[in-house]
Amino acid sequence: MADSAAAEFLGPVPEPVFEGEVVAAAHGLQQLGQVMDGALLIVIFATSGALEALATARTADSVRGLLDLAPATATRVDADGGEESVAVEELTVGDTILVRPGECVGADGRVLDGASDVDQATITGEPLPVAKAKGDEVFTGALNGTGALRIKVERDASDTVIARIVRMVEEASETKAPTQLFIEKVEQRYSLGMVAATLAVFLLPLAFGAALTGSLLRAMTFMIVASPCAVVLATMPPLLSAIANSGRHGVLVKSAVVMERLGEVDAVALDKTGTLTEGTPRVTDVRPLAGAGLKEDELLTLAAAAEHPSEHPLAWAVVDAARERGLDLPVAEDFGSTPGIGVTATVDGRKIAVGSPARLLHGAEDPRSAWAAVVAGELEDGGRTAVLVTVDGTPAGLLGIADRLRDAATTVSALTTLTGTAPLLLTGDNPRAAARLAAEVGIEDVRAGLLPQHKVGAVKELEGAGRKVMVVGDGVNDAPALAAAHTGVAMGRAGSDLALETADAVIVRDELATVPAVISLSRRARKLVVQNLVIAGVFIAGLVVWDLAGSLPLPLGVAGHEGSTVIVGLNGLRLLREAAWRRAAE
Ligand code: ADP
Ligand code: MG
Repeated sequence: MADSAAAEFLGPVPEPVFEGEVVAAAHGLQQLGQVMDGALLIVIFATSGALEALATARTADSVRGLLDLAPATATRVDADGGEESVAVEELTVGDTILVRPGECVGADGRVLDGASDVDQATITGEPLPVAKAKGDEVFTGALNGTGALRIKVERDASDTVIARIVRMVEEASETKAPTQLFIEKVEQRYSLGMVAATLAVFLLPLAFGAALTGSLLRAMTFMIVASPCAVVLATMPPLLSAIANSGRHGVLVKSAVVMERLGEVDAVALDKTGTLTEGTPRVTDVRPLAGAGLKEDELLTLAAAAEHPSEHPLAWAVVDAARERGLDLPVAEDFGSTPGIGVTATVDGRKIAVGSPARLLHGAEDPRSAWAAVVAGELEDGGRTAVLVTVDGTPAGLLGIADRLRDAATTVSALTTLTGTAPLLLTGDNPRAAARLAAEVGIEDVRAGLLPQHKVGAVKELEGAGRKVMVVGDGVNDAPALAAAHTGVAMGRAGSDLALETADAVIVRDELATVPAVISLSRRARKLVVQNLVIAGVFIAGLVVWDLAGSLPLPLGVAGHEGSTVIVGLNGLRLLREAAWRRAAE
């Protein structure tokens, strides 16, 4: 699978050699009795083809490094303890597998028993091995330490985190950058024109009485040196190299189109929860409202039961808090969620809503609601996200939730330098908590209390003012804005599936610092494309003039033409180097 993916990834690198012309030219020469020149021509073309193959193979290797993480087989344990080795594709959800010390984990799943330190740097980027015990999640491709783990398979092989990464890389290869499409369109007409020009170069001097041999040679040389191989090879290698390099550093750019667009971004909008914050929030306060008749644990139980089916980071926090207190969670029915507002469900026959106080209390004026608003204000002043719990429509209590800020100050200033304007913050959370957090990372433009459509509105407004906006987000509530933006970037770990699907690029390890790096890598790729086009143009023009005005020997013409093609190809591959990323990340 990995090999074919890598091969497919390289698919769009164009075949630059015009086989037909070579054969025709060589054939023409033979007829003139210049067998040696014909042979030489073929040798030069053949070796240059090999050089190009070598150059593209390097791209293939670096992509393979990204894909070769999943092991081929796993040890499946059946109900009576029997073990068999099976291909990972045969594992199904619910199977139990055994991972021995030093083996790679063969499936995404949860530890049933055993304890071990697992190195999952390749998937999540955590540099140090993570201690895993019963109940913990493990990923395909992670390297087991010294313990043995029995793992319950929770995802099919085609659905694992690493498989999704591979799929994204494959999809990237199926697209062509706009510049490339443009070049290919022009190239078709150019080739037609070139054939006509070749005929003219051959026939015109003949008409004026020139010798047949000389005219034919000159025309053939013209056809070779004027053919646009180097132009065709100018665009995709830099872009694909940049994609491969970014992939190695945890940024999956889904297509060459996106890689080209990333560099155009001149405004960045960041989401708060899960993007600027780590997305691993914790419940810090449980505040039942007086008169609602609920104790702390009862309030938390109802909230956690209702939140259990939700994908939102705040929901995980509530469920975790209930688990930590050892509370049994009843099963929720009729679960529904509204992005940017909260969730509703029926728990033990009661209608529970959990969500944004500002939205749920909207317009209510009874004393209990008023009191809930006061408590929410208190929590928010303390920098918490306040979440209201209502039971059968009446406020029953509030939860205070705190999330750790990512180390984003450097990223914010790097983005400011790159795009010329400071990033802005778009969040559905309360304005007070948002403003506080924004100040800490150096963001001034804060838009809080936004519903998903408001986030889209903010993006459209900027684009209306002629800006090219990048949105970085994680949640279901960010998906519409990710789609509306010039480029959408999703957080890979904290990110919801919808955000991952919608985004143009995914930051696999949630490292914000890779955002400015990939923008400047895209700009470097763009520069290389232009540089390549200039090199190709200069060679073509120079050789054509030399041929028409002077007398360019055919082998020299071929060497010049092939030389420029190889230079252009290798020039693009420079972006594969580690140094290219490091320079971009500075
Ligand atoms: P952000 O835009 O910062 O990522 P969201 O739009 O996801 O934040 O959430 C905005 C607000 O909506 C939260 O601060 C919270 O009050 C409320 N909310 C949304 N989903 C949930 C949920 N599952 N549980 C509780 N509150 C929620
Ligand atoms: Mg979010």
